[in-house]
Amino acid sequence: DIATMDWPALRAAVSACTACSLCKSRTRTVFGTGSPRARWMIVGEAPGEQEDLRGEPFVGKSGQLLDSMLAAVGQSREAVPAGQQVFIANTLKCRPPRNRNPAPEEMAQCEPFLVRQIELLKPRIILAMGRFAVQALLRSDAPVGKLRGRVHRYQGVPLIVTYHPAYLLRSLPEKARAWEDLCLAASVVEQQEAAA
Ligand code: SF4
Repeated sequence: DIATMDWPALRAAVSACTACSLCKSRTRTVFGTGSPRARWMIVGEAPGEQEDLRGEPFVGKSGQLLDSMLAAVGQSREAVPAGQQVFIANTLKCRPPRNRNPAPEEMAQCEPFLVRQIELLKPRIILAMGRFAVQALLRSDAPVGKLRGRVHRYQGVPLIVTYHPAYLLRSLPEKARAWEDLCLAASVVEQQEAAA
């Protein structure tokens, strides 16, 4: 039962999962990366080609952009102190063939893994990056541009909607808005820490 798994059991369950047809075309599952004590959680969409090969989320150019944006607000996926570390996961743990959009049934099958990751991590902030992360976490088909700029909630956790780095690489003018979103996320965490 996914809802009661600890981190090792959850990781093993993802790597052995055959619940949807993406198990047939994947090279590796992409569980997520970062400290289980991280305060920030980044939720992306689905693994791409490089992620599928390496088993790690957000690699390649969009990963580099994400890392530099996170560094600008003092956060990192590397083994830095937990207060500065992010946990990065995707909505889907396996790559859709040829990077096609995830199918609703694939999203539904994979969702319990993400739900359990969030329950175990108990992050102080979630950054939902891109349309499919928003659909999974907020149950909204509204465009990212309409949902960003304010604080939502997922199971009581503050959630900020922002653009996916792969989109920012194609639409540089939106980088300023993504930067505003990161600053909003940082201020939400600061307020929580000040109140603690
Ligand atoms: Fe299982 Fe998710 Fe991979 Fe589908 S995408 S096989 S549900 S881990």
